[in-house]
Amino acid sequence: MSNGGHISCVSCTYSRSKKGICDVFGIETSTGILCRSFRMPKQSHRAAREKWPIIRKLKPGVVYGIDNDAFNAGNPWPAYNVSPLTVGKRENGVVQDLFVGCLLGGAVGDALGAPIEFMSLSEIRSRFGKDGIKTYSEAYGRKGAITDDTQMTLFTAEGLLRAYCRDYHKGICHPPSVVYHAYVRWLNTQGEHPKGGFEGNKDGWLAQIPELYSRRAPGNSCLSALQGPEMGTIEKPANDSKGCGGVMRIAPVGLMWDDPQTVFDQGCEIAAITHGHPTGYLAAGCLASIIFFIISGQSIETSITETIPLLKAKRGHEECLQSIELALQLSNDSEPSPEVIERLGAGWIAEEALAISLYCSLVGDRDVPRGVLLAVNHSGDSDSTGAITGNILGATLGAGSIPAEWKQELELSVIIKEMANDLFLRFKNTSEWRNKYPGW
Ligand SMILES: [Mg+2]
Repeated sequence: MSNGGHISCVSCTYSRSKKGICDVFGIETSTGILCRSFRMPKQSHRAAREKWPIIRKLKPGVVYGIDNDAFNAGNPWPAYNVSPLTVGKRENGVVQDLFVGCLLGGAVGDALGAPIEFMSLSEIRSRFGKDGIKTYSEAYGRKGAITDDTQMTLFTAEGLLRAYCRDYHKGICHPPSVVYHAYVRWLNTQGEHPKGGFEGNKDGWLAQIPELYSRRAPGNSCLSALQGPEMGTIEKPANDSKGCGGVMRIAPVGLMWDDPQTVFDQGCEIAAITHGHPTGYLAAGCLASIIFFIISGQSIETSITETIPLLKAKRGHEECLQSIELALQLSNDSEPSPEVIERLGAGWIAEEALAISLYCSLVGDRDVPRGVLLAVNHSGDSDSTGAITGNILGATLGAGSIPAEWKQELELSVIIKEMANDLFLRFKNTSEWRNKYPGW
C-alpha cells in the first residue's frame, strides 16, 4: 500500500500521505484505511470495512451510500438505487427544467454583467442610458460572453458528477477532493498550474471544450489558492479570503444531494477549497441550501428562512446572517433601485454578493429579466451578482422563463444545458458516462 513514501489515503486516489499520516484526515493510514485496499483481494476488504466507523466519525459523509449488509455478505459493490432526483410532488420534466433554468439563468446573468463588471453606476448610465444595460453588450470580443463565474460553475458540476461516479464504483468518496481536481482542471484552462501539488489532468469531457480555455477576469483568491501545493479546507484554510468566488460557483451543489444539511455542509467545504474566511464559505453553503429548497418547491423567501437555522449553527455566521436579514428587510420596505442595492454593498465580497442576489431575486420574483437586470446595474461586481440572481430565479421559474434571444446568443449555451441535464440524471452506469465523468 506504500508507494515511494506516499500512501494513497481514503479520500481519493490523488491525496497522498507522508509518514503514514493522511493529509486530509490527519489520521494513521497504515492501519488499512486506504482506498487502494478496495482493489485488493476480498480478505483485505475486512480490514478496511472495520475502519469505516472511525472514518465516518472523523469525517461524516466520506463513506456513504454503501450497503453494509451487502458488503458483509461478500458483495462490496451492491447495486445503488440510482434514480434522477425527484423532489416534492413535481413531475420529473418540471424539475429538469428548473435544473436547466438554474444553470442557464446563472450564465445569462453572468453574460449581462460581463461588460459592466468594472463600471460605476454613473459610467453605466452614461453609456447605456438612465435605466442602465438592458441586454447583452460586447465583452471579451462577443455578445453573450460568459466569465469565470460560469466557467467555475461548470467545473463545480463536473466535479460533483465525477464524485458521484467515484462513489458508485468505489463505494468511497470525499466529494470536495474530487471537485478540487475539477477546479485544478479549470486552473489549467487559465494557463496556470499548482506549484508543487497535484498538476491536474485533462480527462473527462469538460476540459475538451476549447472555448473554456479563455481568461475572463478570474478572481485572485481562486487563482492563488489553486496554485498552492494543497487543497484548502475549513480546518486548514488556503487563505483568509471572503471574496465572492466561493458563492458565485456553488449553485450545482444545491442540485446534487437530497437533504439540506448535506447540501449546506458540502457547499461550505467546496467553497473553502479557495476561500478560507468563514463568511467566504458560509455564504456558499447558504446559496446551495437556498437552491435546494427552491428546487424542492419552496418559495424564494421560505428557502431563505429555512436556510437561516443551518447558517446560525455554524461558527462565524454573524456577518453573513446580518447581510441576509438586511436583504429580506429591504425587499419588504423599499422600491427596487440601484441605490437600494448599493446599501447592501458592492458584491465583491461573499456576504454582499449573496445579499444583493437575494434582494434582486425577491423583488424580481416572477420575472427573470427584471431580476437579473436589477442585479447587474450597479457599481459593484455585476457579473457575479447577475450570475447568482440568475441561478436563483432560473431555479425558481425554469429555463422557459429566460428570454429566447438571450439563450440563443449565450456563449456555450449547449454545453451549459447539457451539464444541467447531466446533473438531473446524476449517473448512468455506462462506459460512455464513466469516460465523461471519470471518478477522480
Ligand atoms: Mg466574473
